[in-house]
Amino acid sequence: TYRKVPPPTKEVIGRSSWTLLHAIGAKYPEAPTQIQQDEMSRFMALFMRVYPMDDSSTFNEIQKAFKETRPNVSSYKGFNSWLCNFHNKVNERLKKEKFDTTFWEDRWANGWE
Ligand code: FAD
Repeated sequence: TYRKVPPPTKEVIGRSSWTLLHAIGAKYPEAPTQIQQDEMSRFMALFMRVYPMDDSSTFNEIQKAFKETRPNVSSYKGFNSWLCNFHNKVNERLKKEKFDTTFWEDRWANGWE
């Protein structure tokens, strides 16, 4: 019989979303073509537009912060450092611990020693 899985909470949606975004970052090319850069810019802009958040002032602030920084899509390093900084801005607004971005590749790409 089917196990009755509940709908996702905003924490689960958030954690899954960051997992997807950082995993996409881990596969982003070192030297993306113009097409790949345009696609990533559009993807991030649309992702932020469709992100399933209730109309909350916090989420509005996060969307504003996104519009102010715009993703750096020029390279692997550029995109991932932009994404980590943006994630830290969200952490800050939600009063969460700041992530030390020097550990980004250990956490999301290469694994810890
Ligand atoms: P998460 O923030 O989900 O992070 C998951 C893991 O990523 C962490 O355990 C850590 O290992 C790693 N990590 C943390 N920070 C970084 C970083 N800077 N760089 C790299 N890796 C990092 N929640 C709300 O309540 N209100 C909102 O308005 C809201 N808006 C959101 C908007 C977006 C676009 C997204 C993606 C999420 C939003 N969330 C919001 C969800 C929120 O950001 C968290 O995902 C959720 O609260 C669960 O937090 P968590 O402690 O599991 O860690």
